[in-house]
Amino acid sequence: MENCIFCKIINKEASADFVYEDERIVVIKDIHPQAPVHLLIIPKKHIVSIAHLKDEDKELIAEMIIVAKKVAEEKKLKGYKLIFNVGREGGQIVDHIHLHLLAGKF
Ligand code: AMP
Ligand code: ZN
Repeated sequence: MENCIFCKIINKEASADFVYEDERIVVIKDIHPQAPVHLLIIPKKHIVSIAHLKDEDKELIAEMIIVAKKVAEEKKLKGYKLIFNVGREGGQIVDHIHLHLLAGKF
């Protein structure tokens, strides 16, 4: 998708600090962390938001959560928050679906 910063990062046309990558998902460090650990779990498929999900995306969303769990385990996090912001009024700025993983002090 043109002009989508996350698509650019996924296609390596923009730089980011990668923590994880597989066939369908990448995990990067958030550029403006809101907690000591702030990661973004991003599917390679350009879906705008939770509000734009189709039934066929069920598995992908489940995979995002499983990847979040794996990364949290690798980082030995004892607890964390997983957040989807949905739409402008839900605090979403980047229109490519992503799951925030936040850990540390809140
Ligand atoms: P949201 O408000 O849910 O759309 O969150 C978008 C998040 O993406 C914010 O926390 C931003 O700090 C983060 N972000 C935006 N651009 C970049 C980037 N180039 N690299 C890493 N994180 C980014
Ligand atoms: Zn995109």
